[in-house]
Amino acid sequence: MRIGVFGGTFDPLHLAHLRVAEEVAEKQRLDKVLFIPAARPPHRRAPQASPQDRLAMVRLGVAGNLKFEVSDCEIKRPGISYTVDTLAALKQRHPRDRFFLLMGMDQLLELHAWHDVPRLLKLCRVVAFSRPGQPLPQPGSVLGPDGKPLPARAFTLQSVSALEISATLIRRRAQRRESLKYLLPEPVIRYLQKHQLYQS
Ligand code: ATP
Repeated sequence: MRIGVFGGTFDPLHLAHLRVAEEVAEKQRLDKVLFIPAARPPHRRAPQASPQDRLAMVRLGVAGNLKFEVSDCEIKRPGISYTVDTLAALKQRHPRDRFFLLMGMDQLLELHAWHDVPRLLKLCRVVAFSRPGQPLPQPGSVLGPDGKPLPARAFTLQSVSALEISATLIRRRAQRRESLKYLLPEPVIRYLQKHQLYQS
């Protein structure tokens, strides 16, 4: 099987996450996409919502798409959520499957600072997609941990529909009690309103 691994803080999950995963799955012929909310991401400040709330919102958001699944492995694992550990565990459990690590351009450009990149690149192929304001770079300008360009065979660049939605925008709108309609799935809107997330 060809399995997409889509990590993120998902604070909260929104429609751009879902649309991007759908387009990458189609183009890269993935059999499924595993959404993995990070518990404690290493490169950014702590998410606002709890891991349990973010996991619940991802579950609500992917429901109904047969190719999409959710894993709580990073939330259950103690310590910082290193992607390389997640991929190593997945590969150990499913040695015959091929893994594709999905990430937006913002993350690809930071990849050189990730934990154990050489091992990470042995475990998966990176599929990096465009994001509004962050078009696809020239392949030679994506650097590895040694400061040299990453070899082209390590990653694929894919252009996806430009949806100018971010979790930051949603948190800001929720705090101001502004409409969230059509920015994230209705069940996720209901959840975050019921639990009064992002209101302070
Ligand atoms: P925040 O605004 O809190 O930084 P976010 O919207 O970027 O959050 P994350 O959970 O950090 O969401 O993102 C998970 C992945 O989804 C990242 O690889 C990010 O690049 C990608 N992503 C998020 N929003 C978009 C978007 N609108 N278009 C393309 N990729 C996106």
